[in-house]
Amino acid sequence: MAHPRYPHVFAPLDLGFTRLKNRILMGSMHTGLEDIDGGFERMAAFFAERARGGVGMIITGGIAPNHEGSGGGKLSTDAEAAQHRIVTEAVHAADPHVKIVLQILHAGPLAQTPACVAPSAIRSRIGRFVPNELDDDGIEKQLADFANCTAKARDAGYDGVEIIGSAGYLLSTFLVEKTNTRTDQWGGSFENRMRFPVEVIRRCRAAVGDDFIIVFRIPAMDMLEGGMSGEEVIQLAQAVEAAGATIISTHFTWHEAQVPTIATMVPRAAFAAVTGRIRQHVKVPMITSNRINMPDVAEAVLAAGHADLVSMARPMLADADLVNKAFEGREDEINTCIACNQACLDHTFTGRLTSCLVNPRACNETLMVVKPTAAPRDLAVVGAGPAGLAFAVEAAQRGHRLTIYEAGSEIGGQFNLAKRVPGKEEFHETLRYFNRMIEKLGITLKLNTRVDAAMLAAAGHDAVVVATGIRPRVPDLPGIDHAKAVPYIDAILGRKPIGRRVAIMGAGGIGFDVATLITHAGPSAAMDIPTFCREWGVDFVNHPRGGVTGVPISIERADREVVILQRRDGAPGKSLGRTTGWTHRLSLVRRGVKMIGGVDYRRIDDDGLHALVNGEPTLFAVDTVIICAGQEPERNLYDALVARGVTAHLIGGASEAAELDAKRAIAEATDLALAC
Ligand code: FAD
Ligand code: NAP
Ligand code: SF4
Repeated sequence: MAHPRYPHVFAPLDLGFTRLKNRILMGSMHTGLEDIDGGFERMAAFFAERARGGVGMIITGGIAPNHEGSGGGKLSTDAEAAQHRIVTEAVHAADPHVKIVLQILHAGPLAQTPACVAPSAIRSRIGRFVPNELDDDGIEKQLADFANCTAKARDAGYDGVEIIGSAGYLLSTFLVEKTNTRTDQWGGSFENRMRFPVEVIRRCRAAVGDDFIIVFRIPAMDMLEGGMSGEEVIQLAQAVEAAGATIISTHFTWHEAQVPTIATMVPRAAFAAVTGRIRQHVKVPMITSNRINMPDVAEAVLAAGHADLVSMARPMLADADLVNKAFEGREDEINTCIACNQACLDHTFTGRLTSCLVNPRACNETLMVVKPTAAPRDLAVVGAGPAGLAFAVEAAQRGHRLTIYEAGSEIGGQFNLAKRVPGKEEFHETLRYFNRMIEKLGITLKLNTRVDAAMLAAAGHDAVVVATGIRPRVPDLPGIDHAKAVPYIDAILGRKPIGRRVAIMGAGGIGFDVATLITHAGPSAAMDIPTFCREWGVDFVNHPRGGVTGVPISIERADREVVILQRRDGAPGKSLGRTTGWTHRLSLVRRGVKMIGGVDYRRIDDDGLHALVNGEPTLFAVDTVIICAGQEPERNLYDALVARGVTAHLIGGASEAAELDAKRAIAEATDLALAC
């Protein structure tokens, strides 16, 4: 019988020789576990938890078929296959109906080795090495290695492989002229350029026979100027189908492209219609992806006929039980991925293990074990910001009795400021999740209740967790109390008027968010696909080469002149996230925001902000100076509790404000809750 709420999501998919139990798969993500001692055991626990969580198919992080293709581990020997067996057995033991598929990732010119190879010796803008141009023998070796890796994957117990043919990795560099300048049978015409990826599929199919899943990830829109045209994408899809692919998955962008495709500023399911267009030209099932983070979005995409399967990658880091929760009608309990990239992709691209901002247990399942407490206690939490909320929910789930005291009228702390910034609308989901969990777990919530040490001592809790957050730093500067100086909280909440000419003092995350907010006009691009396309120069309708027009088509912005300042030398914005910082900088530059480093502030007066810029006296003749100069811990309550002998713990901003973000606040809170 069809599921009443998600009939398309929970319809099984018959692949002929096997069946997927539903239409949601966990997309491939590099976790870093592939490369560390004991990593396969941790990966097994990570994937098994997702298998128990109801997903139909899991695709592993990318594994190379040989040394020269390595962006991480490789699978080419029996010994390596034996390690992978730890993962496949754990997944099939968790649920024998869940398919686990190995992603074969040959990084081509992006491999972290001087032995890296490519169709032509052209260095990628983001690659470390000039790749070695493949000769005929080299091409034959790569093809044989793909086939061998596929056979080893089968030996290791995988149900299939996914071959990545996009993103700037080896296969995709054959497809476009910018990276393939060959004049032999592997270059030149598009038919020649797609010969290598198609031959890879043919060899892999021949190596394993018909009853093994082969997914091919196609560059459905590579976001490169001069990239693949819509017609070429369809031609490739048809050739891949004919060569033996079981499923075609759509991928958007190369890593070096300058259009955000998964950041929080990208609208949900923005790219699904592109998959839908290709789907009309092939018979094999198609997977769509990108910013599909809730079951209703997946259902809508499937119901619209855009795809046969929906890939959710980061949402499975955020909540391993997402699919079960949808099935059981508990979608309001889903801890939603907010597309921040802070603990997943930012970690991957800086050599750290992947995890998740809203779920620090992701990839740490064997280290952060949730056990019911043997000694339930009466615990108070002061402050309902991310730290206090995460602690309360984890501790209550373990069986402790929780009371949260919050001075404000709603839960969320600084997330209530963040959610007002265009492009950060997903932060509402985190607050929805916490509100629901408070209700479900019977946590006592006392809003509009600012507590002090005397009140808490009188209440007689067994222990108090102080999560009182921060106070904005007030720079010691003549004129800081002038009417032109506005603290960022007042600016974000609209409590004070902001003039037409504005200087923002401080270029951290908050300075950039404030600049985004005060230069914004019209609908938020994150909530409106046409606006997103206009702002980033994407053309979904005509699909020009790469899908991009080369320049933004139009950007609506407020009538304001804004300058962001910092004391440090150099360009502001360097502290922003590795994989998202460039999007914030670029979008502000396109709105005409200026950014200046090396500023020595002198005073604020009726004329504006006086400073030395690289030693030169400079007047920023502005109407408003918004102060975004960092934060100080709010820990008076903790000190007072300790003085009274009350058992107290400090977490989040209250513990240490320097370099505080929600990732650290939630991780610290979760660690404490699992330990107490
Ligand atoms: P807070 O969120 O500050 O919460 C503290 C709570 O304690 C408050 O609700 C306060 O009212 C309450 N409180 C204080 N004293 C008392 C008392 N005596 N009695 C009762 N209640 C009390 N971080 C990211 O990781 N990614 C982002 O994209 C991001 N964007 C941001 C955008 C903006 C505009 C802002 C302002 C912050 C952003 N942050 C972001 C930072 C993030 O929100 C903070 O790091 C996080 O909220 C800190 O959590 P916390 O629980 O320690 O403190
Ligand atoms: P921040 O990142 O520490 O930036 C503070 C800014 O103020 C810096 O530019 C700093 O640089 C300047 N500053 C520090 N002391 C100053 C002083 N006395 N006078 C004048 N300027 C001073 O902090 P934030 O912007 O307040 O953000 C708080 C936290 O929230 C951050 O740690 C961040 O991680 C998190 N957050 C993250 C995001 C995100 O998108 N990931 C968004 C918002 C906030 P100079 O000293 O060089 O001037
Ligand atoms: Fe999603 Fe952020 Fe978690 Fe990554 S870190 S999975 S983007 S919520």
